[in-house]
Amino acid sequence: MTAQRLDGRKLAKKIEHELAPKVAALASEIGRPPRLVVVLVGDVAASASYVKSKAAAAKRVGITADVFSIPESTTTAELVSTVEAIGRDEHGPADGILVQLPLPDHVDARAVLDAVPPDRDVDGFHAVNAGLLSQGRPHFIPCTAAGVQRMLLDAGVETRGKHAVIVGRSDIVGKPLALLLASRGPGGDATVSVCHSHTSNLKEVTQQADILIAAVGIPQLITADMVKPGAVVVDVGINRVLDGDTSRLVGDVDYDPVSTIAEAISPVPGGVGPLTVAMLLENTFSAAKERQNLSQTAE
Ligand code: NDP
Repeated sequence: MTAQRLDGRKLAKKIEHELAPKVAALASEIGRPPRLVVVLVGDVAASASYVKSKAAAAKRVGITADVFSIPESTTTAELVSTVEAIGRDEHGPADGILVQLPLPDHVDARAVLDAVPPDRDVDGFHAVNAGLLSQGRPHFIPCTAAGVQRMLLDAGVETRGKHAVIVGRSDIVGKPLALLLASRGPGGDATVSVCHSHTSNLKEVTQQADILIAAVGIPQLITADMVKPGAVVVDVGINRVLDGDTSRLVGDVDYDPVSTIAEAISPVPGGVGPLTVAMLLENTFSAAKERQNLSQTAE
């Protein structure tokens, strides 16, 4: 069996294509393009590259993206106050605000994320948005989790009644994804197991997965013997590994052997990554639209 390739790039293009005219219509309604403000701290190459691709994607659909570059030496208090000022539109209208992670170790990331007003929190990391998702009334859903669910829905993968195993329990990927897949309705209704670094016999759990999602950050952790034949495998991991004198990106799944037994598998790169960006664009559009609706109601 050769697995169906879950092509995130193609789906992200389709999402952008559908979003662009909606953004254009909203821009003419509010008299300016929707605007995303990205806060980038320090000079971590990977973060700078993610921010660059988010800004480029925003531009493609007609959303303005402005990047605030803050030196690595910033303190939690300074960063919180910058984010609060952006949230008060002191640096121009900010429909969506995103703080690129990871932040330097000396910064309290939770305090900074909670400084983003929940109604502009297009990454969905604020405690209010996390709480709403856990109660089954989501507002802004974390982009990677939303991207994985969209990928499954688009590929026609039935989640209802299936056993989904997620390896990884971070606040930004594993946890929200578990909530989404266990939620009621399309793309949900799965029985979800969440694994982490203290899971005993990881292989025994992953072998039971109808849908296996790896969000760990360990290159090729998931090998073919851990996968049930016919499973759908989604690889969230992004790991840079050395390959001779150059480096390349790999996921958490040992792609080639696993693709001979899985029914469908997402590649890295070109899988979940582009969908994460596409979900950010959708969230930014929604934030701008909600804000416009609110201002009309107030008039
Ligand atoms: P975190 O480091 O926050 O979380 C990793 C999770 O993996 C933790 O829950 C950890 O367990 C678990 N884990 C670590 N080692 C093992 C192990 N040996 N067996 C089972 N579980 C283990 O990572 P993120 O969630 O932020 O990211 C995960 C991966 O996804 C990374 O490669 C990251 O680059 C990528 N990523 C990709 C995105 C995309 O757009 N495609 C977006 C965001 C992330 P414990 O909780 O016990 O420590």
